[in-house]
Amino acid sequence: AKSQGRNRVVTYSPDMRRAIEKRVSLGRGIREAIANEEIVPFYQPKVSLLTGEIVGLEALARWRHPEKGILAPDVFGAVFEDHEIAGSIGKLLVSKIASDVRHWLDRGFSFGRVAINLSPAEFGQPGLVDNMLRTLDWLKVPASSFEVEVTETVLLGRNSSNVSSALEQFQQQGIGIALDDFGTGYASLTHLKQFPLDHIKIDRSFVRNLESDSDDEAIVAAIIGLGQRLQLQVTAEGVETHGQARRLRELGCDHAQGYLYAKPMPAAQLAELLERWSSV
Ligand code: C2E
Ligand code: CA
Ligand code: CA
Ligand code: CA
Repeated sequence: AKSQGRNRVVTYSPDMRRAIEKRVSLGRGIREAIANEEIVPFYQPKVSLLTGEIVGLEALARWRHPEKGILAPDVFGAVFEDHEIAGSIGKLLVSKIASDVRHWLDRGFSFGRVAINLSPAEFGQPGLVDNMLRTLDWLKVPASSFEVEVTETVLLGRNSSNVSSALEQFQQQGIGIALDDFGTGYASLTHLKQFPLDHIKIDRSFVRNLESDSDDEAIVAAIIGLGQRLQLQVTAEGVETHGQARRLRELGCDHAQGYLYAKPMPAAQLAELLERWSSV
């Protein structure tokens, strides 16, 4: 039992104990994974709804587990909440992504910006901005080929003044800023005014039933309109069907991302895709 403030005592049930043990062992495993560089970026293209061209990429973390194969963040995503671990994974990913980008630029590919997701814990790490800029500089990767994606949880966090200043520095350097999962948070509209943003991403939960649910359609239409008025790029997430894509196009959405176009893939496979694109 653990004493928790005032006069409450929490007793861990067997389930909770197992959950905690699992988390601890995941913590130990993940440190090894970082040291062995088993955490890698996969890339998912963003496409123009008008031309079908690749206009950007999102980097999504995967764990190449020696026994379990490729793991997605549903299994290990909790680590993005731990300051220290999130910081080291972030550094590892930024350097891998920057070297992939360098490689693709050298091969003459065009792919817009590559977006990296940043968790609240990563904004708590000192040197976040400096590290990223130093890595880009070292590999001669232009800041304009990078974008950061943040959710409202980041903007609402305890250190939101740190977040503001980090975002301002990113923007000054030419790194794009996207507000992820737009519409699922709270006080979204205030955030659009308060933070320097270039891009909003409509959460997949509004896209899913776009064709059958008139409320979802109204919300998506309103977000697109808002984006246009505020001169923000708008990307719809989780596009899985031609019907959804058609409706988004009719509503004036710029860009889409989802399994209809491509699933997140390893760097080598993405390079093949870019190769095919650049030779047409
Ligand atoms: P997110 O940033 O909202 O990423 C989009 C998620 O939707 C990804 O899941 C992607 O694989 C999935 N997705 C893309 N298209 C479709 C689709 O058409 N249908 C469906 N059902 N899903 C689609 P993933 O890769 O499992 O990542 C889950 C979450 O983990 C991300 O959500 C993000 O919050 C977090 N995450 C992933 N990589 C990183 C990272 O490097 N750093 C941080 N801090 N968080 C990350
Ligand atoms: Ca994202
Ligand atoms: Ca998202
Ligand atoms: Ca999400």
